[in-house]
Amino acid sequence: MFVELITTGSELLLGATLNTHQQWLGRQLAELGMPVSRQLTVPDSGTAIAEAVADALQRADLIITTGGLGPTSDDRTRDEIARLLGLQMTEDPDVLKQIEIVFKRRNHPLPPNFKSIASIQAQVPAGAIVLKNEHGSAPGLSLEIPRTTVGQIPRQLIMLPGPPRELQPIFTEHVIPLLKSKFSASGSFVSTTFHTIGIGESRVEAAIRPHLVELEARGLEIGYCARTGEVDVRLSAQGPAAMELVKEAAQRVRRLMGKYTYSEDRRILEEVVLGLLREQGKKLVTAESCTGGLLAHCLTNVAGASDMFVGGLVTYSNELKQSLLGVRADTLAAHGAVSEETAREMALGALARYGADYALAITGIAGPTGGSAEKPVGTVFIALADRAGVEVERNQNPFDRETFKFITVRQSLEKLRRRLLSSPGDGQQKSPQV
Ligand code: AMP
Ligand code: MG
Repeated sequence: MFVELITTGSELLLGATLNTHQQWLGRQLAELGMPVSRQLTVPDSGTAIAEAVADALQRADLIITTGGLGPTSDDRTRDEIARLLGLQMTEDPDVLKQIEIVFKRRNHPLPPNFKSIASIQAQVPAGAIVLKNEHGSAPGLSLEIPRTTVGQIPRQLIMLPGPPRELQPIFTEHVIPLLKSKFSASGSFVSTTFHTIGIGESRVEAAIRPHLVELEARGLEIGYCARTGEVDVRLSAQGPAAMELVKEAAQRVRRLMGKYTYSEDRRILEEVVLGLLREQGKKLVTAESCTGGLLAHCLTNVAGASDMFVGGLVTYSNELKQSLLGVRADTLAAHGAVSEETAREMALGALARYGADYALAITGIAGPTGGSAEKPVGTVFIALADRAGVEVERNQNPFDRETFKFITVRQSLEKLRRRLLSSPGDGQQKSPQV
């Protein structure tokens, strides 16, 4: 099945907006067993959209366009496609009503040009199915395009609005059921992704590839995606044996990657860590210096974090390390703010004062200045305290400030994950460098 995605919008080409639809829709479609074969971005101007669609119709079974369904002069997708296919447009009274509902819900007075805005967006090409938009004014549209050869499944052309908060619910609620009914292809493409941390891309490959050779010969595809501090391993296959191949490969990878794998679904590391805390009925407090609250930010991005995360302190100055965490002046004077001793006292202080079962503390030198021969830029101490004691690891993360913070936070989450996975008292293992 050939799936083509056409994202429209000059802002995407100018770099003003990141093309997140490509990623989001790519993932959704891959999961449905209809991976995107080709993706193109075109400007709003001229006849680029019609040209792209005409070209895609030469080969695609499914074409999805995004953007350009709004009321402004640069929103041309619907018009261009109707013109290309020679379809009449008519105003759909139900769409008109829905646009009014969405506007009224926002509690803003209707704009003076409401009637003309609404009437533009209520235009529906002949034969199109309207995909209701609960979160905005322009609905999605779906068209079935017959083929010349009798008996072939007709092509589908789906137009979705640009704003992600409108596109995503329309896709989930309307497009997925539609695709499932039109192309009962699910099952022919199977894919699963392992998310790993603490091991580099080439080591991952060296560890798993030799064990997958004969599965590769039978059609298994292995993809490696190195992200900052993490590596994803994607196992996929197409055709009738796809499920069996991927299942067998996944079993092997699961065994070979062991604890390096933190999730096999889409859960990110912070979700996994919070999930383990929830299962074990434990609470976490954080005390951060050089990461400036990023650890707390990542944790609080997860819905329901408040059940496990009591809170986080950003103690940047020595004064706050002392007053809020009870770090001793002597310790700071003797060893410095970036030291194993300070990290240890930060974690123990947070644990003792703020009613949690685990405390993570971070202190380090993000750079670009402030390093020394003994503690170069990138040096970071991560302490993890619980009732049994405290353990500190020293890592070297010599990256730009943003990457330093990001990686340090991943390492601290991973440290806690490993602890939560190990039986009590068995947690003295240092989490590997990421
Ligand atoms: P449009 O429907 O083309 O007028 O787009 C409306 C809004 O959606 C604008 O803020 C766009 O920047 C945004 N948008 C459109 N296409 C994309 C895309 N591919 N990825 C992320 N945002 C987009
Ligand atoms: Mg646009």
